[in-house]
Amino acid sequence: MTLAFDPDSLALDSCHLIGGGRVADAPGLSVIRPSDGRVAGEIPVAGADVVDRAVQAARAAQSGSGWGTCPPRDRTRALHRWADLIEAHAAELARLEAVVSTRPVDELPGGDIAVTAEQIRFFAELADKEGGLSVPTRETSLGLILDAPVGVVGAITPWNFPLSMAGWKMAPALAAGNAVVLKPSEMTPFATLRMAELSVEAGLPPGLVNVILGDGATTGAALVAHPDVAKVSFTGSTGAGAAIMGNVARSGVKPLTLELGGKSPQLVFADADLDLAADCIARSILFNAGQACVAGARVIVAQAVAEPLLERLIARMQPRAASPTWGPQPEYYPIISARQSARIDGIVQAARAAGAELLIGGAPQEGPGFFYAPTILAPGDATNPAVTEEIFGPVLTFETFADEQQALLLADHPTYGLCAGLYTRDLSRALRVVRRLQAGTVWVNRYGRSRDHILPTGGWKQSGLGHDLGREAYLACRRRKSVLIDLQE
Ligand code: NAD
Repeated sequence: MTLAFDPDSLALDSCHLIGGGRVADAPGLSVIRPSDGRVAGEIPVAGADVVDRAVQAARAAQSGSGWGTCPPRDRTRALHRWADLIEAHAAELARLEAVVSTRPVDELPGGDIAVTAEQIRFFAELADKEGGLSVPTRETSLGLILDAPVGVVGAITPWNFPLSMAGWKMAPALAAGNAVVLKPSEMTPFATLRMAELSVEAGLPPGLVNVILGDGATTGAALVAHPDVAKVSFTGSTGAGAAIMGNVARSGVKPLTLELGGKSPQLVFADADLDLAADCIARSILFNAGQACVAGARVIVAQAVAEPLLERLIARMQPRAASPTWGPQPEYYPIISARQSARIDGIVQAARAAGAELLIGGAPQEGPGFFYAPTILAPGDATNPAVTEEIFGPVLTFETFADEQQALLLADHPTYGLCAGLYTRDLSRALRVVRRLQAGTVWVNRYGRSRDHILPTGGWKQSGLGHDLGREAYLACRRRKSVLIDLQE
């Protein structure tokens, strides 16, 4: 069954969600449909007054409803109800997401939406399992480590997987007893708004989940610097992450989780299963047209198998039909905006001017909308912009190595350390290389996230700070208190 729809007939709500209700505001920004370049609607840009209203609603809901102090199982039950409603509204959410994002409508219910509901359930179940500790101390004392919610979490998400990124941020924060004020990307706000509204229908206290619309410079900046936002959780580019650190620092001190950019390597050794490697590499760079932080954008292959691997990659990366996200079973994914498409092409052309050899692709595809042909470049050397820049498009670089030492040198990116993949049948080599790769996640003989939400995700180097998913994300939304009690006779 397909959820294909007519984008012109979809009603889009562009109010903020504050205190459990919709709050209208003057329109300030157009939201564009990447599949055909047309305007989908207008959204407001929340100023400092609206941000303050949302933060105060969150504070009041968190402290007034007892959300942070209730038996944790009550939070578990409420969050399961929210996940149930998200699954029940999958078709509606999928259409709201697909109309302005790069995510095909038929991929969403079994993909991003199912994963988002699963993540909410995962964190819901942690609420009564993670807690304080009694620690060894003198016989005449009792040492305790207590923990408590931080209060209001300010969250900011990117456009590339809007619903699941919102789930990453909201689920651990709420399960850990906090309230949330979330600013989705100004390019893809609609499904996140509806998902947040469903939390109220599920019985979460009104105001516990607030969504404010706007851009980074005005709304995002005001949110992270707000004195009553106790923690900031951000996913987006490294540049914006650095700007947020600066903004937070100017307004005081608070914990930050930053999930940032990547330029991840995939190492193919001579003994690898080349069909498996080619399948994984092609899928990793074509999925969402390479607009994924984890995209394995740098192929680093043993000289002995470079030719057969390249043949296999070229066969798997032939141009696909540019089809809109709202059609049935589209073959390919649009680029989010004209600006991003021009940026991809700008880096590809700069790479060629700096000596990279174009092996396939290398140009935008015919529209309507914004599409870019699957591209492979042989960069020549490690300072080429195709290697140094996060392109965030369907562009692979293809480099060769003579031995393991050189493979590791090439893999080690000067800026990013988000993920890495490697393909080999030699267990000892796999474990040696895993230990030496400078990345927060490493996949062996596979590439890409699984549904094992227990595995934390976080970047090394300038790919981030802290973790989403896993126990780590939950614990980062709690703060600890050490207690020592002297026992009296
Ligand atoms: P972006 O940094 O341009 O924007 C992300 C969000 O931050 C948006 O909501 C934007 O409005 C807001 N923002 C921008 N500047 C801000 C500021 N100064 N203060 C506060 N908020 C600000 O990123 P994008 O183009 O939306 O997303 C793509 C980027 O996200 C890529 O670099 C990608 O690697 C990264 N990403 C990382 C992960 C991860 O898990 N590490 C996951 C998805 C995307």
